Order: sequence, then C-alpha cells, then structure tokens
Amino acid sequence: MSSIIQLLPDHVANQIAAGEVVQRPASVVKELLENAVDAKATDIKLIIKDAGKSLIQVIDNGLGMNVTDARLCFERHATSKIRHAEDLFSLHTKGFRGEALASIAAIAHVELKTKQDQEELGIHIIIEGSKFITQEPAVLPKGTSFSVKNLFFNIPARRNFLKSDTVEMRYIIDEFQRVALAHPNIAFTMYHNGSESFNLPQSNFRPRIVNVFGGKTNEKLVPVKEDTEIVHIHGFVGKPEFAKKNRGEQFFFVNDRFIKSGYLHHAIMAAYEGLLKDGAQPSYFLYLSVPPNTIDINIHPTKTEIKFDDEHALYAILRSAVKHSLGQFNVAPVLDFERDPNLDTPYQYQQKEAEYPTIQVDRSYNPFADEKPQKAATNFNYKKPELQPSWESLYVGLEEMDTQSSEISFETDAVSSSLFEDTDTEQETKRTYQIHKKYIVSPIKSGIVIINQKRAHERVLYEEFLTNMTVHHASSQRLLFPLEFYFSVNDIEVIKEIKLSLENLGFIFDSIHADSLIISGLPVTITESQVSIIFDDLLTDFQNGVGGDSFSQNDSIAQSMAKSLAVKTGTYLTEKEQDNLVNNLFACREPNVSPFQKPTFITMSVEDLDKKFSL
Ligand code: ADP
Ligand code: MG
Repeated sequence: MSSIIQLLPDHVANQIAAGEVVQRPASVVKELLENAVDAKATDIKLIIKDAGKSLIQVIDNGLGMNVTDARLCFERHATSKIRHAEDLFSLHTKGFRGEALASIAAIAHVELKTKQDQEELGIHIIIEGSKFITQEPAVLPKGTSFSVKNLFFNIPARRNFLKSDTVEMRYIIDEFQRVALAHPNIAFTMYHNGSESFNLPQSNFRPRIVNVFGGKTNEKLVPVKEDTEIVHIHGFVGKPEFAKKNRGEQFFFVNDRFIKSGYLHHAIMAAYEGLLKDGAQPSYFLYLSVPPNTIDINIHPTKTEIKFDDEHALYAILRSAVKHSLGQFNVAPVLDFERDPNLDTPYQYQQKEAEYPTIQVDRSYNPFADEKPQKAATNFNYKKPELQPSWESLYVGLEEMDTQSSEISFETDAVSSSLFEDTDTEQETKRTYQIHKKYIVSPIKSGIVIINQKRAHERVLYEEFLTNMTVHHASSQRLLFPLEFYFSVNDIEVIKEIKLSLENLGFIFDSIHADSLIISGLPVTITESQVSIIFDDLLTDFQNGVGGDSFSQNDSIAQSMAKSLAVKTGTYLTEKEQDNLVNNLFACREPNVSPFQKPTFITMSVEDLDKKFSL
C-alpha cells in the first residue's frame, strides 16, 4: 500500500501557524509594534482603517532591513533574534520565534518598505497569501513600514468571526497601550480612520501613563519601588478610592513585556485587602525586571504568559511592596470602614469632574428608611396608555372573592380582631403588599402572585429603553449646566459607537473629545447623579464585547441601563409605586422574565396553599 503521509506545502503550514499567531487584527498590531521596538525605533506610528479589517500599518524609524533580510523575514522560523537554543535564556527582544511575518503574509496582502540608514536605496516588496508579487528598489526614509491589508482574505470563516469594529478596535487599543506603556522612551502615535487617537511623545513612565489614560490619572497614582536580588519592581498603583468595577487598567510588565498573571494579580489584590469595596478593581502599572534566565516566555504563542522560577517569592515581594506604598502614601487611614456602603453615592458627577477622592453621602437617601424615598418614586412615574394592562384581567372576579372571604368566620372574635385590627377599611382598596422590601405580593383570582420588585422593574425599564431606541425617540431635559465626564480613550471609542442609541434614549452630547465628553441633555427619567453610574455600567458591560449588529447593541444598552436604574432589593415602595410597578410589568410584552431571562413573578393557586395547610 502506498504511503499516505505527506509534508504540508509551506503556504499551508503557514496558514495553520497563522491561526495560532493571528486571531484578530489586534494580533497583527502586536506583532508589528513589537518588531518595530526590537528594531530600536524611537518613533512608531500605527495607522488603522476600519478597526484593522482594511488596513493595519506600522511605520518605524528603526534599523530597517537589507534586500536579503527583507525577503527572508517572511520565511517561517526566520529570525535575527536568536541563533542557538541557549539564546532563549538571555532574551532581550520581544520576538524570537520568527513566525509572525510568515503567518501574517499567509493570510493577508502585505506591503513592506524598508531601508537601512547606510543604504542609498530601500526595497519595496508586495506579498499576498505567501506569494511574492513584486520586489523593487525604492527611495525611502530610514526604517520600516509594514502595511497589512485585507486580513483573512483567504480564510472567510475567520473574517466572518471578527466582532464589530468597536470590539476589534478595543483589542487593538489594548495592544497599542500595552506596548506604549512598556516603552515610554519611544514616541507613539495612533490614527484610526484618519483621526489621531493617541499622540504619545517620548517621556518617562508616569507621564506616559498619564498620556495614555488622560490627565486625571496623575493624581490617582501611588509610586511603588522595591529592589531585591530576584526582582526589581517599579511602577504605580491606583489609590483605592479610584478603583473601578472593571479590570481595565491593570498591567504587569516583565522585562518590558506585557504579561498576564492571575497569580501576581492575586498578590496585588492581597495588598489591597480591606481597602476596596466589594468587587472593585484597583489600577496598577507595575514593571518587574528579573534575570532573563529565571523566566520562560516560551509557553504561549502570543507570549503573554510566562513561567517564573520562583513564583512564591515574587508573590510575597510584590504584595509587600504594594502594601508598603499604599501605607506610606497614607492611603489606608483615609478610608472609613465602618461606613455602610449602601449609604454612599460614589458616582457624584461633580466629584468625578474634580476627581477628588472622597466618599460621598446622599443625605436624602436611605434605602432602609421607612419613609417614602423620593428617588424610587420618580422611576415609576411614566404611563403606557397605549397598552391595556393585562394585569387587570388577573383581578377579574376578585370582588366576589373579597365578599366571600369577608364571610370567613373565626372561632373567636378575639382572634379576628387582634389579627385584622384596623385593616378592614384598607383591605377593600389595597391590592399589593411589599414583603421584606423585596417582593410584592398581591391576591389574584386563582390565588396569589409574588413579584420580585427588582426584576420586574428591570423588565419595565428594558422594554421602555428598547422602544425608545428603536421605535420612537424619547424626549430630553436640557441641563442648565452641562456635565463633563472624563474617560479613557478606550471608553470614548465605545461611547462613540453607541452614541446614536444613547441619543435616541434622550441623551444630548454637546461634544466628545479624546478623553472627555460633555452632556447637555438627559432622558427625562434619569437624574444627573445617575449618569455616571449608567456610563460606568455600560462601559463595563461593553468591555467584554457585544455582538456586532445594531439590534444586539441596542439590546445590550437597554439591558445594562435597566440593570443600573432598576429599583434595588431593599428599597421601600409606597403603595402607589407598588401599584404602578405591577401595572407596568403586566403591560410589558414579556412580563414573565427579566431582561436576563430570570422569572419576574411566581403565582400560587389556592390549591397550592390548601396543600400546604393540609400537611
Ligand atoms: P521575530 O520577531 O520572532 O524574529 P518576525 O516574523 O516577527 O519574527 O520577524 C522576522 C524578522 O524580520 C525579525 O527577526 C527581524 O530581523 C525582521 N524584522 C521584522 N520587522 C522588522 C522591522 N520593523 N525592522 C527591522 N527588522 C524587522
Ligand atoms: Mg516579531
């Protein structure tokens, strides 16, 4: 029988390898930026079109390549960075596998222009799907430019799996930031669809962090420094009061390389123990230097995971260094741990503007007070007159039941009067009861209904928001004093993408800048103090990426806002509010489930109750 094993042709092998190295446009960005850094560039430009789907270009002023190398660099395992296996233990470069360019060239249209300083002419090469198309001399400045177009042109399945531009752009910005934060001594600029997203001049670590994340970052940073035999640590951690819900600004660099490490993250969290509110995430920008022979960077194709020789010692050193800094900069004693976090309103926009690290108390609001809280009331005061509340139908026949029940006679008068004292008059009108500030119970024809107030309100708000975004647009209240909010460049990208939907909801954006925006109008049902919590939640929810089409985008916005604004468990509701909530719930198209597909209410029939009593 003839043998069946064959060696794969190179272009096929490259395509397969590409799957490992290039998952999305951001992977290309990472590889090209790292190559530019390895080429000792001092100025690197990243140009992106359509979130990298049409173009990713990196221009550097580094060493460049000669004619032979310019062709060789597209071969697999072609690298100038290591020669012997031992070199792996003394790495000072980002790349070393010699795989990236071969992989990228296998699945895209690549144009390379490169010139070394001492040469008169450079070289211009075009290669498409591993095939060399042209190669000619060209007049070029010193350095290298790689343009990668039509990524995944020959792997449609991969191309179809790319997420929306917002999500892909987010990944790209993440990679850009990681490289830029690791190398403050290199100037970086980034353009997306013709406009400048980042312009980072050569600087030191602190100004680089501030340039990347916006001017307000500076005051949030606490320096960290520790020198030991096995590791040198320097960098910054965020003051605890600026901790956020999402894990956006957490960076470890080991020997100038961004890495992910759940274990080291844990060390940081341990240092913050007792300083953070539940679920809050501190920022950190920590640079570790270790001898190259004590780490193994080779365990992951994208090299973001590394293995340390002495992880336990590293953990202990890191934790104590961070703890020490937090203590030394007097961060810890400022916090008042006795305070009930439910009483805090940490998202006051005025304070956000000033970024002043204090805990805010909304004195008029106490979710445990028994008086009516005004805030909760405003959330329900809208009508849906066009819909006939089907809720009413549940009550059909209740009147007769009431008369029947009034005929129930108890064995002794004493019991009945003590149990039902003073409630006789109320019972005729009162149809809802709030239980444990969590459930609303009401009698219905067949028995009782028990409604989860938070989920019910989420459903009501969700449908309202969705209708406003898709069918008719909500009206706005103009603000006397426009509100200014500061965000990271990442977050601004996300907000731009969902701006139209937010405008349909009633938000009016005055202007959107690189790291801030001004809002001059709000939906009528939203108060000024709720705005930053809404944005915080929206950005957290969008962080992990939502589907690309506009329906799922609207859906996610409505879900996120409903979750932020729904009345919480533990909030007292007046009878009127209970009634409104119940009516509005049953006027919904899908009253049975919350926007997150959890049941909003349950019913118990009289038979169910009878059964309980027959035990
Ligand atoms: P690696 O970075 O692992 O060596 P790559 O496939 O990324 O592998 O690059 C192959 C080689 O091409 C590099 O080793 C380097 O010699 C050369 N090269 C790539 N990009 C540049 C650049 N921007 N400037 C100069 N040389 C480059
Ligand atoms: Mg490389």
